[in-house]
Amino acid sequence: MNRETFLKSSAALALGSVAISCRSENTTVTENKKKKAAFKWKMVTTWPPNFPVLGEGCALFAQWVNEMSNREMEIKIYGSGELIPALECFDAVSAGAAELASGAAYYWSGKNEAFPFFTTIPFGMNAQQMNAWLYAGGGHELWKEAYAKYNLVPFPAGNTGMQMAGWFNKEINTLSDFAGLKMRIPGLGGNVIAKAGATPVLSSGSEIYTNLERGVIDATEWIGPYHDYLMGFHKIAKYYYAPGWHETGSVLELIINKKAFDNLPLHLQTILESAAARFNVWCLSTFEAKNNEYLIKLVEEEKVDVRSFSTEVLDGLRNFSAQTIEELGNKNVENQKIFRSYMEFMEGIRNWSTFSEKLYYKDISKTK
Ligand code: CA
Repeated sequence: MNRETFLKSSAALALGSVAISCRSENTTVTENKKKKAAFKWKMVTTWPPNFPVLGEGCALFAQWVNEMSNREMEIKIYGSGELIPALECFDAVSAGAAELASGAAYYWSGKNEAFPFFTTIPFGMNAQQMNAWLYAGGGHELWKEAYAKYNLVPFPAGNTGMQMAGWFNKEINTLSDFAGLKMRIPGLGGNVIAKAGATPVLSSGSEIYTNLERGVIDATEWIGPYHDYLMGFHKIAKYYYAPGWHETGSVLELIINKKAFDNLPLHLQTILESAAARFNVWCLSTFEAKNNEYLIKLVEEEKVDVRSFSTEVLDGLRNFSAQTIEELGNKNVENQKIFRSYMEFMEGIRNWSTFSEKLYYKDISKTK
């Protein structure tokens, strides 16, 4: 698949999902399929139609809800731009123009600067730790409280896992190499590299490749090996740096119009919540499996120079990140509440990780 077909979302992928969803059906299933759905909902998404993993996950989510509800609920999905532009999803669901949407909280930082805490922050928690905070550490309650003001109910529904630092046409050996660097990196990561003297540039997904190829930008981040491979960045960039310090496990969200959700019978509310949780597991698992496969492909077939930032570079970025996050957390009372909960949970779970996974990984890297 080349970049153009990837961006448009390929027929091959659509065909793939149809093939996967085909099952032999008995009479009851066929009869149930004929049943008229009592609830027909519209789902808008911030992803292009059938976008790999994220858009595909939305299609699966709709399928699961339909099956679990015994066809009582039907969800029609609209990719970004099909019904409304990507960045209007929050307002559209808030106003009830669509009942639900798939996106990420950090897209809405214009509404509240603390929203990125519900997606990812530079040098923040990883996917596993974010799930722990959201499901079992009070994070989801804070998220629900923050979104209730907008007539929305949020659920974690997907995670990209650890991303990559990005593609660079310039070596980054020390922190001073960021000086004058023009890099496509949205959000808080952009604020951080600006402190290091770089210029964060905003480019939409469809412009990045051309901008990098023409030298309008010197570097770009995107997601991880799978999506980056589909974008073809390895054809025009010299170095592929790790780790994705700015997106350490980005949580994707399902947002539902609160009034529509509250008016549902209890079993349908539970079905939506359960399908979102299944989406969450499916999405992270798929990212991990695909990234593993495509990193090998990039290194072995495309001979990509994969590098990791030096300790000096990471320490410098970490310091600038801490300043950025501190500034954000002090903006207002609501921010402080979210900031404190996130930071306290992260400190605790990092302490536990030191005695659990960190020791284990240190050990397996020796035996490799
Ligand atoms: Ca990214």
